Amino acid sequence: MSWRLAERGCLAVIEYDQLRLPGVRHGCVVKRAGRDIDEHEVYSALGRGKRLVVTEQTHSDQVAVVDDGFATHYPARVGADGLMTGRPGTVITIHTADCVPVLVAAPGAALLVHAGWRGSAQGIAGKAVREFARRYAVDPAEVRAVIGPCIGPECYEVGTDVAKLFSGRVKHERPDGKWLLDLRTANRDQLAAAGIRPENIVVSDHCTRCRNDLFHSYRREGRLRGTMIAFMEVGDEHHRY
Ligand SMILES: [Zn+2]
Repeated sequence: MSWRLAERGCLAVIEYDQLRLPGVRHGCVVKRAGRDIDEHEVYSALGRGKRLVVTEQTHSDQVAVVDDGFATHYPARVGADGLMTGRPGTVITIHTADCVPVLVAAPGAALLVHAGWRGSAQGIAGKAVREFARRYAVDPAEVRAVIGPCIGPECYEVGTDVAKLFSGRVKHERPDGKWLLDLRTANRDQLAAAGIRPENIVVSDHCTRCRNDLFHSYRREGRLRGTMIAFMEVGDEHHRY
């Protein structure tokens, strides 16, 4: 797992070696020096000189395609829990604070998915990758993916009603009858089942609930003070971001 925390203008951004493909720019905006993330500031920075796409997320399995003709740009929001694009000059984003951000790249195309327990139970990541591969005629062997910072399997307590939606491989019952759910593995399994090579899927071990210095966490904060914002952009393959 190779990642770095970089300063990009006014933003602190986690970047993954896994996604360093020609013509692909990506990152997860995290807290800078422990300061709460200001959504407006982030969108202003990411959208400078670009068409910026921001989601109104509803824990659905809806994935919007941002290509020619797509015109819902920030400050308008598109109702979706995933975005894919092959259109240069466009920055796609999703926001999370314990849910899983999934970042997927292939030459000339990018996909972002927001998957909490509802989206994971509906298989949004797997569905999105299949659609992505079909729409952009991508060879699955060329697809790279990162399961980004999310609530870790030791910290994500759920009730029986939620646990029963998942296979035994990704949940663990505690003596008190509560369950611990592993959203990372649930989504990793979906990506692999959709054809991404296991060696091309990197899973972050950052837990949003444990790392107050870097992340917001719905479970830790209760009333959210901000969210992490994952972004991707594709461009000319000769352009090195
Ligand atoms: Zn944790």
